[in-house]
Amino acid sequence: MDYLPFTRPSIDEETILGVADVLRSGWLATGPNVAKFESGLSEYLGGRQVKSFTSATGALEVALQLCDIGEGDEVITPAMSFTATPNVIMRVGAKPVFVDVDFTRNLDLDLVEDAITKNTRAIMPVHFAGLACDCDRLYEIAKRHGLRVIEDAAHAIGTEFNGKKIGSFGDLVSFSFHPNKNMTTIEGGALSFADPAESAKLDRLRFHGISKDAEGNMDVDLPGGKYNLSDVAARVGIGQLEKLDSFNEKRRKLVDHYFECWKVDECELPAWGEGHAWHMFAPLIPFDKFGISRGEFVRKMHEKKIGVGIHYPALHLFSLYRGLGYREENFPNAERIGRETVTLPLFPMMETGDVERVCDAVAEVLS
Ligand SMILES: *Cc1c(COP(=O)(O)O)cnc(C)c1O
Repeated sequence: MDYLPFTRPSIDEETILGVADVLRSGWLATGPNVAKFESGLSEYLGGRQVKSFTSATGALEVALQLCDIGEGDEVITPAMSFTATPNVIMRVGAKPVFVDVDFTRNLDLDLVEDAITKNTRAIMPVHFAGLACDCDRLYEIAKRHGLRVIEDAAHAIGTEFNGKKIGSFGDLVSFSFHPNKNMTTIEGGALSFADPAESAKLDRLRFHGISKDAEGNMDVDLPGGKYNLSDVAARVGIGQLEKLDSFNEKRRKLVDHYFECWKVDECELPAWGEGHAWHMFAPLIPFDKFGISRGEFVRKMHEKKIGVGIHYPALHLFSLYRGLGYREENFPNAERIGRETVTLPLFPMMETGDVERVCDAVAEVLS
């Protein structure tokens, strides 16, 4: 039987040929394909303004810089995410203030207001695994306290909240197109934003701080970074965006089948929600009860030719964040998820038979 990885991108032949055309065209860096990709994303997100980036991490960092967040500022963010989320807050010199997540693995909005201080400048929520946060409540809290919102929507391209796409509304919304995500540009990301007045500064932050006047004279007024996407990557993205809705539909069907075929009652299946983009399928397994370590579980699944990921350990227990004073028992939900989570195979090219194979293997390994 073939090895079943936990994720795998689907790139069609037309996209591969399209990439070859770009490579032959003589124009490889930011150009017509980036413009076309950005306008496609904008259309997908209901006409919002969108800029592409070389990564979501870059887009998040630039979003913080756009808001002038730095030394002495605090940003509220969940204790359960990929480490890119709090890292960028540290990179601009601000302090990540962690808040625990609830059973959805998204920020527990009941706890957010208690974490707000006079130094809080923004909330950086994550739509975990592609399940939207309660954006109505989130934005209501942000508005009441005068905070910016920078949504880490790395898992959430195609996710909907109340029938509206994530990134089609709200403040600053960052997407990732890493190959593990729901669509890819190999490496890449995008930032959707609301205020047209912020467009020019975003351009400068994305590309060396450079602006040009009508005469073509160049000026530099801030030390911008270098986050512009290549046309080669954008051409991959154009092919992916056409398929995104069908990819996500397939993900939903496969997850429905996981729910139908799951055999081990002691596990906690992920929260289901309307508009979920199912970036990953990550049940919680109480390894203590089964007398098996997670490492051993992963090894035994691997022996059965099934890949298993871990997304993610609780953030506040990494050395960097312990250095800010965080400790065990600060965020019990994030810590339990961090201990018990496993990411099982889910990608559009899978078949329902693969889901059955995974469910059988999990039951065998845990028996
Ligand atoms: C993947 C990911 C990122 C970073 O995305 P890149 O495009 O790889 O920079 C940020 N946040 C979360 C939650 C992610 O899963």
